Amino acid sequence: MNDGSEIISALRAAGHSAWLVGGCVRDLLLGRVPQDFDVATSARPADIARLFPHAIPVGAHFGVMLVDNVEVATYRSDGTYSDGRRPESIQYESNPEADAQRRDFTINGLFLDPFTGETLDYVNGRADLAARLVRAIGEPAARFAEDHLRMIRAVRFAARLDFEIDPATLAAINPLAIRKIAIERVFAELTRILTDGNAHRGLELLDQTGLLAELLPEIKAMQGVAQPPEHHPEGDVWVHTLGMLKLLGPAEPALAWGVLLHDVGKPVTQTFSDRIRFNGHDRVGTEMARTILFRLRASSERIEHVQYLVAEHMKFPELPKMKPSTLKRFLRAKHFPSLLALHRLDCLGSSRRLGTYEYAQQQFTSLAPDELRPAPLATGRDVLALGVPFGPGVGVLIRALEEAQLNGELSTREEALAWLSQQVSAPAST
Ligand code: ATP
Ligand code: MG
Repeated sequence: MNDGSEIISALRAAGHSAWLVGGCVRDLLLGRVPQDFDVATSARPADIARLFPHAIPVGAHFGVMLVDNVEVATYRSDGTYSDGRRPESIQYESNPEADAQRRDFTINGLFLDPFTGETLDYVNGRADLAARLVRAIGEPAARFAEDHLRMIRAVRFAARLDFEIDPATLAAINPLAIRKIAIERVFAELTRILTDGNAHRGLELLDQTGLLAELLPEIKAMQGVAQPPEHHPEGDVWVHTLGMLKLLGPAEPALAWGVLLHDVGKPVTQTFSDRIRFNGHDRVGTEMARTILFRLRASSERIEHVQYLVAEHMKFPELPKMKPSTLKRFLRAKHFPSLLALHRLDCLGSSRRLGTYEYAQQQFTSLAPDELRPAPLATGRDVLALGVPFGPGVGVLIRALEEAQLNGELSTREEALAWLSQQVSAPAST
């Protein structure tokens, strides 16, 4: 990966000041592997473009250029913020100090020379790294008022790094203000909290700060929703969900959101009959997942994937009773591997009994791809040739044919054609 050092050399050779900055410095000093490298420099965007002709402007009005996947940003200070989202103007600076002051947290405000290891620390970032604290640079309430998203970022960094949020910074978090932020930015930060590997801590902090009730009231509602102890010795729906997130580790976004939302239908479907029940919580939860993710402006692909996970998460105990065709169709679903991963966590986060998981896993690995999805024995053309009129009836027959094939009732084209003509002449026998 490009670590920014060659870019820094080239900028310095041209007479500019240049340093690694932000998240990569924080991660390097913590001994973690940075996800990407950012460079801050006195060079203006036009200078950067001249030195690196292939540079792509990514935040032109903020002076950010992408050079070989490294964000190279001109030192700047931000003007006033009036909307709680972004500054009205920015001003380029020739030294890094002002650039440090406009950054969000002290641990994100450090500069590092990749050649000598020298750091520039205008904000006491090294002390906070050592003390494992997320602390706003400057006056926390003012910094959060400039950009409300920083409130969620504080949670994200504390969760990911397993740091505490400094008390004054924590106290300045005002959940009501988060409404003003573009929901896409909120969704991106929430997704990173869920996928970065310490999601349960992130959820606890979101709860503690009041952000959870504001952003995801449906998740907050899981607290105190009792479950039958024989199935869920671990506790209520919230405790169960957090337990799964604790086991999740770094994850794909859809799986992480699926874990968070798989039981979101439980609070509204809880009944007390012979025992506590949540009839239809998978179906109700599937609708709720759609509503929540739509509100957060998730992509339709992401929404569909998560809805699938919520809708299907209760099916595993039925697998041994399924017809081969039903089982094969279940196992060959596009996102089945993530459903299986979710089910494993669901077992581990409740009864700890993995029997249903192991059965599914064993079936999934023992069936070859051409058993799950065999080549069709006949096509719509064959059905039409039998005189079936063009229309939905053709697809119905093809699906029924595939079902017979998956159940092992047919295995050659001749058998399939004979089966089809029998269906067409005596449809009542289906
Ligand atoms: P990650 O490793 O998760 O990417 P990061 O610290 O690099 O963490 P980014 O969102 O990539 O986080 O931002 C890069 C740097 O830009 C931050 O370290 C911080 O200095 C600054 N920054 C980013 N967003 C803001 C913001 N909303 N307000 C102030 N400074 C910010
Ligand atoms: Mg980054």
